[in-house]
Amino acid sequence: MKIFVATHNAHKLREIGEILPGFEILADNPDVEETADTFEGNALEKVRAIAARHEGDWSMADDSGLEVDALGGAPGVRSARYAGEPSNTPANNALLLKNLQGVANRAARFVCAVALVDPEGREHVVRGECLGRISEAPSGAGGFGYDPLFVPDGFDKSFAELGENEKNRISHRARALAAVRSIMVK
Ligand code: IMP
Repeated sequence: MKIFVATHNAHKLREIGEILPGFEILADNPDVEETADTFEGNALEKVRAIAARHEGDWSMADDSGLEVDALGGAPGVRSARYAGEPSNTPANNALLLKNLQGVANRAARFVCAVALVDPEGREHVVRGECLGRISEAPSGAGGFGYDPLFVPDGFDKSFAELGENEKNRISHRARALAAVRSIMVK
């Protein structure tokens, strides 16, 4: 069975392939602006854009980001461009630390929404979350994005220090994809 995924991010495609063995994972470009104000809304916009081309197969799109309690859920759906366009990871991380300077409540969560269109054209949306906190300073060289600043609950290391295997066991994306698997593999 084929799954068309609305991304060309090799890391995401590999992770999806690992969680859904036996499926043929194919990339497609949704070519839409992410204009929704929820992760679910953006994932749906992207999956609808590609599903029209793949009737009879599965289509999938995800949208993810970081929500910080003390910032009212920011950076949220603007995670990639928190410090402005084009997306700049060091600038995003520096701005996050600046906005949390002197703030005691460091609680945060990574969120991943995945939208699916099944071979009959029905839509499904799932969400995975990983709770944690924002550290005072970056640590670790692995991962990407906000990983050096995010310490998941139950750990004293950042996502960037944990390593890919451990991160993929507990991450927002892994949890959303586990929910996807339970929809796809009956
Ligand atoms: P996307 O929707 O997966 O492209 O993610 C949007 C943005 O959220 C990324 O550019 C990162 O800034 C942030 N983000 C999402 N997932 C992660 C993660 O696992 N680690 C670090 N940053 C992430």
